[in-house]
Amino acid sequence: MTGPLISVVAPVYNEGTGVERFVARLGEVLGAAALRYELILVDDGSSDDSWSRIAQQALLDTRVRGLRLSRNFGKEAAVLAGLEHAGGDAVVVIDSDLQHPPTAIPAMVRRWQAGAHVVEAVKRNRTGQSLGNRLSARLFNQAFTGLTKVDLVDATDFRLLGRPALDALLRMPEHSSFFRGTSSWIGFTRASVEVDIDHRAGGASRWTLRGLFRLAVNGLTSFTSAPLHLVTLAGLSFAAFSLVLGVQTLVRWISGGSVAGFTTVILLLLVTGTFVLLGLGVIGEYLARIHEEVRGRPRYLIQERATGPAVPEQWVV
Ligand code: UDP
Ligand code: MG
Repeated sequence: MTGPLISVVAPVYNEGTGVERFVARLGEVLGAAALRYELILVDDGSSDDSWSRIAQQALLDTRVRGLRLSRNFGKEAAVLAGLEHAGGDAVVVIDSDLQHPPTAIPAMVRRWQAGAHVVEAVKRNRTGQSLGNRLSARLFNQAFTGLTKVDLVDATDFRLLGRPALDALLRMPEHSSFFRGTSSWIGFTRASVEVDIDHRAGGASRWTLRGLFRLAVNGLTSFTSAPLHLVTLAGLSFAAFSLVLGVQTLVRWISGGSVAGFTTVILLLLVTGTFVLLGLGVIGEYLARIHEEVRGRPRYLIQERATGPAVPEQWVV
């Protein structure tokens, strides 16, 4: 087979039997479209038998390769590991739980061949998710887009990047990468295809409320310093308010009025206390990010690799 090589990168975390289902489905779809591809499955420290399943698939099919991270580094790190090992002319990032329909890949490849450097799959629906989930995702994407001018509305992690875009993305050294954001930030000619996000084929979503909150905070802090300016603004408005109140009290005192109001004092203390703590928290989030970046630890560690007899150049250690 000739034609461009497509690297498909899929993070895997405790997908169990889903691994075989995914490999088979992908092979079917890409085979039918006569696409030349390699599939990089990144085991993000699964605690089930996902890795042995991946290794077995790599033995059965030379186009399938596996990377095993030394522990659970999170989806973002797993995706990054896969991207750094991709040797294709274009790379497609896709979830391994079949929620992202592989059938969209041929259309994405066509868009890429027609000149787009980044092809995003945008959601037509979100059937696989609860109402709360949908609302919070919407809210977050909208807030993110508003604050950072990096458009995330209806975006997914399911995207295709051409080689120049991928190389640009890989030049970003930040520790806490946020693929959806960084792959938008780089720019390049974009196109999108609409997809239906399916229900999970098996297992359960790994996201906890805490995990999602962290992702949101990470995404925001790595793309904008707007919250810091917000703290400054809040401080300034408090200063103005205090000045007015101070002058008013002074005038009253001079004109002999009594200055009282125990409740007011307590309320003001609580309000200022809240603002001070929130402000500190915001600064703390940024400080934590700086601390993380400054330590410069590796973003993921690889424990094992699984390839067929032909080991690609990126994979040689
Ligand atoms: N995943 C991962 N590491 C994690 C959590 C998830 O590699 O710590 C993978 C998972 O195997 C799947 C994808 O990321 O391929 C999306 O995860 P999930 O389906 O749990 O998230 P959702 O679809 O609910 O956003
Ligand atoms: Mg999923």
